[in-house]
Amino acid sequence: MSKYFSRKPGELQAYVPGEQPRNIQSLIKLNTNESPYPPAENVTKAVLKATNKANLYCDPTMLAVRQQLASVYGLTPDHFTLGNGSDELLSFAFLAFCNQATGAAFADITYGFYKVLSRLYATPTDIIPLDEQFCLVPEDYVGLHKTIFIANPNAPTGRALTLAQIEQILVSNPDNVVIIDQAYVDFGAECAIPLVEKYDNLLVINTFSKSRSFAGGRVGFAVAQPSLIADLETIRNSINPYNVNALSQAAACAILENNDYYMQNCAIIAQNREYLTEQLSALGFETLPSKTNFIFTKHASISGEQLYLGLKEKAILVRYFNAPRIRDYCRITIGTKDQMDALINAIKSLI
Ligand code: PMP
Repeated sequence: MSKYFSRKPGELQAYVPGEQPRNIQSLIKLNTNESPYPPAENVTKAVLKATNKANLYCDPTMLAVRQQLASVYGLTPDHFTLGNGSDELLSFAFLAFCNQATGAAFADITYGFYKVLSRLYATPTDIIPLDEQFCLVPEDYVGLHKTIFIANPNAPTGRALTLAQIEQILVSNPDNVVIIDQAYVDFGAECAIPLVEKYDNLLVINTFSKSRSFAGGRVGFAVAQPSLIADLETIRNSINPYNVNALSQAAACAILENNDYYMQNCAIIAQNREYLTEQLSALGFETLPSKTNFIFTKHASISGEQLYLGLKEKAILVRYFNAPRIRDYCRITIGTKDQMDALINAIKSLI
């Protein structure tokens, strides 16, 4: 820390991303919930074309992508805005909807960035424990008078709320925004976007990073009634009106043109998830029911850290969190069937 840094020691707690090694050819990378499938070919073509015009600024309104999103989700473009990944939209949501009076609330075991942002913006925060089975209890969120952040399905647990449970939270918090971060929704959970027209306090945050094979392209999108989107736009235009670059905008359009390809890949990943869960269960693993492209699993005879380190020695990367309540577990991204078979063989030799 330099003498010029204007924050006190310990005031911030920066996010630590999962390992991103560069020599991935020799690795099976199952640690940051990326898709094992590359983007379709039309993405490469669209990016090349956009590169030829990269001497000009990109469209700060991102209209072409918003129009495509509107047609995929049956809404109008003013129901959407975009971020440089959904992480940026979460940051905008904190800036737009949390202050000293409203504060924020989220689960004890959930996406780590919520805590990072609540520290960064000095937001008074309620941390609400998940139950013993790592389920979020909707009753705990009734009438909270806080801005609520819920990852649905949750990470790293993989468990999902139903739409009825989400509605219970929305109805009982009419004076606060409820953010449903559905980064993993396309792998099997109920999508909250159809609730947007019904609830003016619902903000749904989505990403192209998982189901749409575009983690490196950094595109996230927010869906809400136009008045909430206008608030996010005020924040976005106060920070960086060109937050989603021309190449990523072109790629996002190409991806949405080919949406079925990505949704079919999600169905294959969901099958591979069930396959892996069954195989691990036969080896004595306990796995939480997952609606995502990862599983959260533990074994009585090997700690989370031992499994993580053992697999790393065999060139398979998974994620281990050295945190209360979840030290016994590893989070494993679902890949191709071949990757799952290689993982199962490696695990057999470890336990
Ligand atoms: N929300 C959740 C629950 C996540 O797990 C992640 C990925 N780490 C994100 C949001 C952020 O994804 P991105 O910024 O790549 O869109």
